[in-house]
Amino acid sequence: MTLEFHQFPARSDNYGVLVHDTETGMTASIDAPEVAAIKAALAAKGWQLTHIFTTHHHQDHTEGNAALKAETGCEIIGPRGEAAKVPGIDRQVGGGDTFRFANFEVRVIETPGHTLGHIAYFIPEAKVAFVGDTLFAMGCGRVFEGTHEMMWNSLSKLRRLPPDTTVYAGHEYTQSNARFAITIEPDNAALKARAAEVDALRAKRQPTLPTSIAIELATNPFLRAGDAGVKASLGMDGAADWQVFGEIRKRKDNA
Ligand code: ZN
Ligand code: FE
Repeated sequence: MTLEFHQFPARSDNYGVLVHDTETGMTASIDAPEVAAIKAALAAKGWQLTHIFTTHHHQDHTEGNAALKAETGCEIIGPRGEAAKVPGIDRQVGGGDTFRFANFEVRVIETPGHTLGHIAYFIPEAKVAFVGDTLFAMGCGRVFEGTHEMMWNSLSKLRRLPPDTTVYAGHEYTQSNARFAITIEPDNAALKARAAEVDALRAKRQPTLPTSIAIELATNPFLRAGDAGVKASLGMDGAADWQVFGEIRKRKDNA
């Protein structure tokens, strides 16, 4: 049994991802940012949509739900915590829930902060996670609905996934995230090397995602808020990890 993944750009800076099980033909769209882009991706691969896995209610992640469901009859799985805001939702899931997609177990991780009901989907056997707008390459989502402490706890759950987990995120914000990350950790060699790689990829208009937990642990300042060196460089020795996270988030918001 094998899952195939197809990532494609949508809207201005979103990514869509299709997850296809080769045995059953089942195909899930991670969020539904843009109907035309998703239909083109399905057609290009010759896959038929059977599911949408919604990470959170924002328009740029749910806009295609109604039209895609009407056209394909796909089942929409989404966050219980904000189900009323997810168009067409059929099945509500929350933290700790598991469900099956073909023969794969999908684990639901509650990651509130960007929105209060935000969830991520983790497929252990495939070592892949779909994190929506919680974690980005070298960045994280803006904390719109929750608190900094809540968002830090959500990111901490993702930090504890196996390091070799492949991570698909909702947006291509990597280049600006890298520039900001270097202001927090100017001496982080892994970060500087990655920023150079990212610049080279973007110069060729190539995606910088997916990433991995290991790469983010080494280069993402928002995951590194508990690091003694990061705390010291911000003059926050002794502060709680979530407070350091909050300071980094505020600086990025104002950057
Ligand atoms: Zn969002
Ligand atoms: Fe988004």
